[in-house]
Amino acid sequence: MHKKRYDQATLICLIKRSKIMSLPNCPKCNSSYVYEDQALLICPECAYEWNPNEVAEETTVQVKDANGTPLAEGDKVTLIKDLKVKGSSLVLKVGTKATIKRFADGDHDIDCKVDGAGDMMLKSQFVKRQSS
Ligand SMILES: [Zn+2]
Repeated sequence: MHKKRYDQATLICLIKRSKIMSLPNCPKCNSSYVYEDQALLICPECAYEWNPNEVAEETTVQVKDANGTPLAEGDKVTLIKDLKVKGSSLVLKVGTKATIKRFADGDHDIDCKVDGAGDMMLKSQFVKRQSS
Protein backbone atom coordinates (compact mmCIF):
# COMPACT_ATOMS: atom_id res chain seq x y z
CA MET A 1 0.00 0.00 0.00
CA HIS A 2 2.69 2.41 1.05
CA LYS A 3 4.83 1.45 -1.96
CA LYS A 4 1.99 2.16 -4.39
CA ARG A 5 1.57 5.73 -3.10
CA TYR A 6 5.27 6.29 -3.57
CA ASP A 7 5.08 5.12 -7.21
CA GLN A 8 2.29 7.56 -7.96
CA ALA A 9 4.34 10.43 -6.59
CA THR A 10 7.26 9.41 -8.78
CA LEU A 11 5.03 9.32 -11.84
CA ILE A 12 3.71 12.83 -11.22
CA CYS A 13 7.26 14.05 -10.79
CA LEU A 14 8.30 12.51 -14.12
CA ILE A 15 5.35 14.06 -15.96
CA LYS A 16 6.15 17.48 -14.53
CA ARG A 17 9.78 17.17 -15.49
CA SER A 18 9.05 16.17 -19.09
CA LYS A 19 6.87 19.25 -19.44
CA ILE A 20 9.69 21.52 -18.29
CA MET A 21 12.15 19.90 -20.72
CA SER A 22 9.90 20.64 -23.68
CA LEU A 23 11.21 19.65 -27.09
CA PRO A 24 11.53 22.14 -29.94
CA ASN A 25 9.04 22.21 -32.78
CA CYS A 26 9.87 20.39 -36.01
CA PRO A 27 12.14 22.66 -38.15
CA LYS A 28 10.42 21.37 -41.33
CA CYS A 29 6.68 21.53 -40.59
CA ASN A 30 6.69 23.26 -37.18
CA SER A 31 4.78 20.39 -35.57
CA SER A 32 4.79 20.40 -31.78
CA TYR A 33 4.38 16.59 -31.54
CA VAL A 34 8.13 15.99 -31.80
CA TYR A 35 9.42 13.13 -29.66
CA GLU A 36 12.83 11.98 -28.57
CA ASP A 37 14.44 8.68 -29.65
CA GLN A 38 17.88 8.42 -28.01
CA ALA A 39 20.00 11.20 -29.53
CA LEU A 40 17.52 11.98 -32.29
CA LEU A 41 14.38 14.06 -32.38
CA ILE A 42 11.63 12.69 -34.62
CA CYS A 43 8.60 14.42 -36.07
CA PRO A 44 5.62 12.02 -36.44
CA GLU A 45 3.86 14.32 -38.91
CA CYS A 46 6.47 14.69 -41.66
CA ALA A 47 8.85 11.88 -40.49
CA TYR A 48 11.80 14.29 -40.30
CA GLU A 49 14.60 13.12 -37.97
CA TRP A 50 17.42 15.28 -36.70
CA ASN A 51 20.05 15.50 -34.01
CA PRO A 52 19.54 18.70 -31.96
CA ASN A 53 23.21 18.74 -30.92
CA GLU A 54 24.47 18.69 -34.51
CA VAL A 55 22.19 21.55 -35.50
CA ALA A 56 23.51 23.66 -32.63
CA GLU A 57 27.12 23.02 -33.63
CA GLU A 58 26.59 23.96 -37.27
CA THR A 59 25.17 27.37 -36.44
CA THR A 60 28.17 28.33 -34.30
CA VAL A 61 31.11 29.71 -36.27
CA GLN A 62 34.27 28.51 -34.60
CA VAL A 63 37.28 30.82 -34.82
CA LYS A 64 40.57 28.92 -34.52
CA ASP A 65 44.17 29.92 -34.02
CA ALA A 66 47.20 28.98 -36.16
CA ASN A 67 47.27 25.49 -34.60
CA GLY A 68 43.55 24.89 -35.06
CA THR A 69 42.83 25.44 -31.35
CA PRO A 70 39.35 26.92 -30.83
CA LEU A 71 39.41 30.49 -29.54
CA ALA A 72 36.95 32.16 -27.17
CA GLU A 73 36.32 35.75 -26.17
CA GLY A 74 38.62 36.69 -23.29
CA ASP A 75 41.35 34.26 -24.39
CA LYS A 76 44.94 35.46 -24.25
CA VAL A 77 46.91 34.95 -27.45
CA THR A 78 50.40 35.68 -28.76
CA LEU A 79 51.41 36.64 -32.29
CA ILE A 80 53.23 33.93 -34.24
CA LYS A 81 54.84 36.38 -36.69
CA ASP A 82 55.64 40.08 -37.08
CA LEU A 83 52.57 41.95 -38.25
CA LYS A 84 52.76 45.35 -39.91
CA VAL A 85 49.87 47.57 -38.90
CA LYS A 86 48.07 48.87 -41.98
CA GLY A 87 48.47 52.61 -42.56
CA SER A 88 51.27 53.07 -40.04
CA SER A 89 54.93 52.22 -39.50
CA LEU A 90 54.07 50.21 -36.41
CA VAL A 91 55.07 46.55 -36.42
CA LEU A 92 53.66 44.14 -33.86
CA LYS A 93 56.48 41.77 -33.04
CA VAL A 94 56.19 38.01 -32.89
CA GLY A 95 55.38 36.98 -29.32
CA THR A 96 53.35 40.14 -28.61
CA LYS A 97 50.50 39.34 -26.23
CA ALA A 98 46.88 40.23 -26.90
CA THR A 99 43.49 39.55 -25.35
CA ILE A 100 40.51 38.71 -27.55
CA LYS A 101 37.66 41.13 -26.90
CA ARG A 102 35.24 39.77 -29.47
CA PHE A 103 34.99 38.10 -32.85
CA ALA A 104 34.25 39.95 -36.06
CA ASP A 105 33.26 39.14 -39.63
CA GLY A 106 35.79 39.43 -42.43
CA ASP A 107 39.40 38.32 -42.85
CA HIS A 108 40.50 40.19 -39.69
CA ASP A 109 38.23 38.08 -37.52
CA ILE A 110 39.35 38.87 -33.97
CA ASP A 111 39.06 42.23 -32.22
CA CYS A 112 41.90 42.32 -29.68
CA LYS A 113 43.48 44.49 -27.07
CA VAL A 114 47.16 44.23 -27.96
CA ASP A 115 49.80 44.84 -25.27
CA GLY A 116 51.52 48.15 -25.96
CA ALA A 117 49.47 48.90 -29.08
CA GLY A 118 45.84 49.13 -27.99
CA ASP A 119 42.77 47.85 -29.80
CA MET A 120 43.50 46.08 -33.10
CA MET A 121 41.74 43.84 -35.55
CA LEU A 122 43.85 40.73 -36.12
CA LYS A 123 43.68 37.57 -38.19
CA SER A 124 43.16 34.45 -36.07
CA GLN A 125 45.55 32.52 -38.36
CA PHE A 126 48.46 34.67 -37.07
CA VAL A 127 47.89 34.10 -33.36
CA LYS A 128 48.30 31.21 -31.00
CA ARG A 129 46.24 30.64 -27.87
CA GLN A 130 48.22 30.90 -24.62
CA SER A 131 47.69 27.95 -22.34
CA SER A 132 46.75 29.37 -18.97
ZN1 LIG B 1 7.65 17.77 -39.14
